[in-house]
Amino acid sequence: MVITWHKSTCSFCGLGCGLMVGVEKKKIVKIEGMKGHPTNDGVTCLFPPNYPPIFTDKDRLKQPMIRRDGQLVPISWDKVIKYVASSFKKIIEDYGPNSIAFYGGAMNLTEEYYLINKLMKGAIGTNNVECSTRLCMASSAAGFLSTLGADAPPTCYADVEQADLFFIAGFNMAVSVPVLFQRLQATKKNKGAKIIVVDPRRTKTSDIADIHLQIRSGTDVALNNTLAHILLKEGYVNEDSVDRYTSGLDNLKIHLEKFPPSQGAEITGCSENQIVKVAHAIGESKAMLAFWFQGYNHSSQAMFKNNTLHNLLLLTGNFCRPGAGPLSITGESNALGNRWVGTLSHLLPGMRLVSNYIHRQEVADFWNIPLEKIQPIPGKSILDIIKGLHSNDIRAFWIMTTNPAASLPNSHWVREGLAKTELLVVQ
Ligand code: SF4
Repeated sequence: MVITWHKSTCSFCGLGCGLMVGVEKKKIVKIEGMKGHPTNDGVTCLFPPNYPPIFTDKDRLKQPMIRRDGQLVPISWDKVIKYVASSFKKIIEDYGPNSIAFYGGAMNLTEEYYLINKLMKGAIGTNNVECSTRLCMASSAAGFLSTLGADAPPTCYADVEQADLFFIAGFNMAVSVPVLFQRLQATKKNKGAKIIVVDPRRTKTSDIADIHLQIRSGTDVALNNTLAHILLKEGYVNEDSVDRYTSGLDNLKIHLEKFPPSQGAEITGCSENQIVKVAHAIGESKAMLAFWFQGYNHSSQAMFKNNTLHNLLLLTGNFCRPGAGPLSITGESNALGNRWVGTLSHLLPGMRLVSNYIHRQEVADFWNIPLEKIQPIPGKSILDIIKGLHSNDIRAFWIMTTNPAASLPNSHWVREGLAKTELLVVQ
């Protein structure tokens, strides 16, 4: 048996573990973790070893299909590419470039999203380019933008082994990102790192917590403000340093007066004693790494949950040091990468904005196209794209690696919109 090994990435969860794919006689026969990969160093969860049968499943799509008389029938790649290109061209000629829209998931390669943006925004000339991160991670991105001025967590997985305290909020890491959770477990075992879990639920993650704050749903902002109140009152904050690197400390102190431990306990349902213990653990930690997920991001207070958690890290100097900082985890493995190359309707590559003249000029120069080709107004958000399908403003819709009929809210309305599309390309 001769197996050749090829590098790949697991796209099943937000981690993006490195994989080695074993191929024998043109068939995938084995999948293992990639040794030396910064995410998983050879380890995988239970999923990848069970992938090989998927590639030979009889229901797997192996060629393009096109709908003829209501039925999907096979077509060659050459023919389908020509058909899609000529259909796009005709629709653009008849209705203009803004009659076309693109919507992608967040698990493709950064380079692929860069090309999509170049094709749509630079060649076709529409900003109707959206990605599932518009919904999934939008509040985390907005949290980083409003705290740091940039949509970018200043941390990485290598920080895990440097931390002595993990603060995990609204996130069942043991189930959602098992390989990363194993790294936390190992750091706890080998270096004595402590784990604080904030979650209304008892989970596999809270099972190994040193302290589990089982707060009432929706009270994270009050909890974070109470923790900040205690940290300030008990002298855990180097105010000179905070003043040097941030703005608004005096206003924050006034605001936090409303959150003494008794108030925090009443709102969150946790005991004062437990909240104070957590504040002390944060204040005494040398390097705290904070994780959060959709328990924060999918809520009506999402951005404030993000901001108030960032505040705890800023107040305690847990930024820009090994093992310290905010490490938001994404639902799909390239959520940040695709935003960095502009896969939202208001963005251009490099987190530039379509509404910014200088940014448009920089990108137009780099792409060697006239400045006027890039529209100065953001394109439609994904929900406006669906509205556009209903109103016929959007005639052609190109979907890649995501299933909006299942993942967007109000799926019946989404399906009705998709059914009205003149050209629907699902890739
Ligand atoms: S932890 Fe996530 S990315 Fe890593 S192997 Fe498992 S499913 Fe894939």
